[in-house]
Amino acid sequence: MINSKTKLLGLIGHPVEHSLSPLMHNAALKNKGLNYIYLAFDVKSSRDLKAIVEGAKALGIVGFNVTVPYKIHIIKYLDKLNYEAELIGAVNTVKIDGDMAIGYNTDGLGARMALEEEIGIVKNKNILIIGAGGASRAVAFEMAKNNNITIINRTPENAKKLSNEISKKLNRIVQYGDLSTNIEGFDIIIHTTPIGMFPNENVKPVIDVDKISKNMVVMDLIYNPKETVLLKEAKKRGAKTINGLGMLIYQGAIAFELWTGVKPNIEIMKKSLSNF
Ligand code: NAP
Repeated sequence: MINSKTKLLGLIGHPVEHSLSPLMHNAALKNKGLNYIYLAFDVKSSRDLKAIVEGAKALGIVGFNVTVPYKIHIIKYLDKLNYEAELIGAVNTVKIDGDMAIGYNTDGLGARMALEEEIGIVKNKNILIIGAGGASRAVAFEMAKNNNITIINRTPENAKKLSNEISKKLNRIVQYGDLSTNIEGFDIIIHTTPIGMFPNENVKPVIDVDKISKNMVVMDLIYNPKETVLLKEAKKRGAKTINGLGMLIYQGAIAFELWTGVKPNIEIMKKSLSNF
């Protein structure tokens, strides 16, 4: 029941009307008996970001998620960043702590937790990351901490930039290339481009799927559709496949705990998204 003690959480981005976060967070809050509500706010201009952070502090809003296109732009209005947000250079979660707005990035760890839930600890693996955009940055920085990663991208220059940045910050060698790079020999492939996403599901994957073999794990960050064309092709070739729902759930679960101090029930979060 909403009453005078109800605390506010939310999401800012544009567009947000198809976001699954309100469904997932409100189900988890209810399950834990926490008197919070999570709402989606469609923010049409980055000009409003300053007012949003100030307003959140003034109103005692507990925190909010940040999605496309504001994950980078929000940073200049925050008072502090945690290690991951600083490393990745983007924020997907803000916590208001008194008069401080603190930025976090839970996307990379969320992706790791989703992957490890399926295949166990991921360490010293050869990982191919397809794409060099925002989601790739979070995943690449996280996975490069203890794996050998290669980033390939439509615009190889962007893959080179990201790989150089990771090499410099984490002091590890990161390979890069274009989409024609030979994908044989990788243990894990993580696809981070929007190719195959609803409503453009019937497209050609951006890599040569005939090179996928049965001992590979193929993860697609897309969760709509649940099985992308890439995952279908990978499954046909015997690979283990993982969609983006797990990452969505775990990045949310980490944020939930940052805000409320309570670990959410992952099964309840999963169930809340089972019919979307
Ligand atoms: P983004 O920053 O716009 O990056 C897009 C990437 O895709 C870039 O590397 C871009 O290459 C590449 N790309 C775009 N169009 C392409 C094409 N026609 N052919 C080949 N490559 C193409 O997007 P993002 O924010 O990283 O999001 C990417 C995907 O991840 C989306 O589908 C999103 O839904 C998903 N995602 C999922 C989660 C989750 O929780 N599961 C979280 C975040 C994002 P160039 O550098 O050449 O432009």
